[in-house]
Amino acid sequence: MATATLSIDLDAIAANWRALDRLSAPDCQTAAVVKANAYGLGAGRVARALAQAGARRFFVACAEEGAAVRQALGAGPQISVFSGHMAGDTDMINDLDLTPMLNSVEQITRHLEALPGHPFGIQLDSGMNRLGMEAAEWEAVASFVLEAGPELLMSHLACADDPAHEMNAAQLAEFHALTDGTDVPRSLAATGGILLGRDYHFDLTRPGIGLYGGLPFEEATPTVALSLPVIQLRDLAIGEIVGYGCTWVAEAPSQIATVSGGYADGLLRSLSNRAVLWAGDVPCPIVGRVSMDLITVDVSHLEQAPRKLDILGPHQSIDDLAAAGDTIGYEILTGLGARYMRRYIEGTGRA
Ligand SMILES: *Cc1c(COP(=O)(O)O)cnc(C)c1O
Repeated sequence: MATATLSIDLDAIAANWRALDRLSAPDCQTAAVVKANAYGLGAGRVARALAQAGARRFFVACAEEGAAVRQALGAGPQISVFSGHMAGDTDMINDLDLTPMLNSVEQITRHLEALPGHPFGIQLDSGMNRLGMEAAEWEAVASFVLEAGPELLMSHLACADDPAHEMNAAQLAEFHALTDGTDVPRSLAATGGILLGRDYHFDLTRPGIGLYGGLPFEEATPTVALSLPVIQLRDLAIGEIVGYGCTWVAEAPSQIATVSGGYADGLLRSLSNRAVLWAGDVPCPIVGRVSMDLITVDVSHLEQAPRKLDILGPHQSIDDLAAAGDTIGYEILTGLGARYMRRYIEGTGRA
């Protein structure tokens, strides 16, 4: 079989949620962000594992994602939608009991008119200028909106992965200015914000990447391993080339392994001639360009012909691979391809 195997450790994801939960005060709720199919790892399986670990509240990017998570979890857990209440979302929000985080006066009007009494939250812009109401907009409608009973006021940090960045304190001050004295539960921190300390936690935190083993949560337990089967081995003489564009030339007699996996599976073309795969504990460099379905690897130094090579595992995290490809762990995770055979690890009893 030429299909690569992606192992997803649900116990590790649950352990990461517990570890992040322990960083905030007992009366601060730790939610879980499962947008983009739980960062590529499978929203249904991940949400169920996290619910079992104790998560009671989930965040998704859009109502359709919320529908999938509701189907997996059933009634009970709260599912909040960052993009708010868009035209066409009303039935889904109502039927599946989703909680939109309203981003504008337009969304507030739409929501209160279409679904009076249905839970909602408010997203405020504290400086990132991406989603949420601006200070002036909020001031104009705050008293009216607060009367309608939002169940959360939230905002998002632009630079929380850099604790030294002055933007963090500036956004914290702005969030206080926007929300102090409202008596509504508040949320500012994602993974990076949790690590900035309790001043940033308020009543609820919203970790995503940390659950899945990525930076900036350095203590995270890795959650994924990806193993690519070797399809073919060949021996090259000095001067022979490998791959599209002849970007690699053998300077010594070499053995090349062609493995199953390529940029169509989220293994970025920018990894060409830069990243390594692993044969157990031995690194093997990618040579030549990553193509759509295949990667070529120099295995000349191995004592035994490899049957598979690992691209994510104990020796190479999502952030290691991201660094080799000039991106971030988030992009490696969310790009993990649909063709992999996904194998879930669960119930190992690990805390
Ligand atoms: C994606 C996202 C999160 C989770 O962020 P991480 O950095 O993955 O922890 C939290 N809140 C909002 C608004 C987001 O868009």
